[in-house]
Amino acid sequence: MSDTIEHTSRNPDDLLMEPDHYLLTPGPLTTAPQTRAAMMRDWGSWDQEFRDLTAELRGALLEIAGNTTVYDCIPMQGSGTFCVEAMLGSIVPHDSKVLVLVNGAYGQRIVKTLGYLGRACRVLDKGDFSPPRGAEVARILAEDAAITHVIVVHCETSSGILNPIEEIAAVTAAHGRKLLIDSMSAFGAVNLDIETLQYEAMVSSANKCIEGVPGFGFIIARKTAFEQAEGRSHSLSLDLHEQWRIMNTTGQWRFTPPTHVVAAFVEALRLYMAQGGQPARLERYTANRDTLVAGMRALGFETLLGEQWLSPIIVTFLTPGHELFDFRKFYDLMKEKGFIIYPGKLTLVDSFRIGCIGHFGPDVMKRVVAAAKESLAALDIPHAAPSAASLAARDAAALA
Ligand SMILES: *Cc1c(COP(=O)(O)O)cnc(C)c1O
Repeated sequence: MSDTIEHTSRNPDDLLMEPDHYLLTPGPLTTAPQTRAAMMRDWGSWDQEFRDLTAELRGALLEIAGNTTVYDCIPMQGSGTFCVEAMLGSIVPHDSKVLVLVNGAYGQRIVKTLGYLGRACRVLDKGDFSPPRGAEVARILAEDAAITHVIVVHCETSSGILNPIEEIAAVTAAHGRKLLIDSMSAFGAVNLDIETLQYEAMVSSANKCIEGVPGFGFIIARKTAFEQAEGRSHSLSLDLHEQWRIMNTTGQWRFTPPTHVVAAFVEALRLYMAQGGQPARLERYTANRDTLVAGMRALGFETLLGEQWLSPIIVTFLTPGHELFDFRKFYDLMKEKGFIIYPGKLTLVDSFRIGCIGHFGPDVMKRVVAAAKESLAALDIPHAAPSAASLAARDAAALA
């Protein structure tokens, strides 16, 4: 693949618009100049032109999802967590029991949300980064007849693991339960085949793999699920049934939409389609990850996860064991060179993360690796190998 990204705009000023830093974080992330430029005008939320933007957005997302007849797409104001809460509070009946597959911070947040909502849940907790497997989910579903729904995080962004949602979807369907997916950080890049997965609902947001700016998320669910959600939500503003009903009758958002964010997102969607859609996005992010991982390994860094589980979204690296390594200093040195990296979120081993998503290609990733090399040199660290203790902790947890 080519290292550069095709722009639909041919404005030569684009070259001058390289960002002063790249966000190597899993959203907010680095956006295209055209996406940012789309925010330079004001929109009336009731105006037909803005309703057209909303309709285009919903149609394009359903097209990416792969089904426009049985499913519908509803955007919701707020960050991704607001949309997860809207989905759970609206789609999951009060007398349900949800099996939550947890292997990181976002799975834990779902459990916490269900607690706020007063829904019964059972938790399969795999620790910091081990994948929930189909066979163990099947055992729980066979023994616990009260479970009505299974929810899984597609890419658990806290470690970067890509969870095996196909095998989880298969056992969930085989046991006649409904599947919910937090695909926040994966939708648009990783394939989520709706016909195979047969999910009840899934959720993602504007500032992840479609490369928009933050301000809203969206729920793709069966039309029947939106319909049946009437009167169920605990929250006026997060009531998905009402948002769906009003959007489908008036073409408008129920309360003030983030107009500039929506305009930017539609521009990002047009770029996404022009660049080749999901396969092209996956290819670019995979190339970003492969360039990053190969380069960092050559400097001595080790990834938390084995090849099988590495996502093309974000990669966790173990902190170097050298006594002079200090993440804060490393972070500042990387930032001086134009790259914002991300702290780790693990309990067992010290780590940090580098995101592969955003408007850049492997040419930029090569510069990230060069910046890491220079930053290590500035700290007088000859080799980035982690300590024997953290390698042992990682390997023990992986075997557990
Ligand atoms: C980003 C993300 C969320 C939502 O986080 P917000 O900070 O509320 O946008 C939820 N789940 C996953 C897996 C994510 O990556």
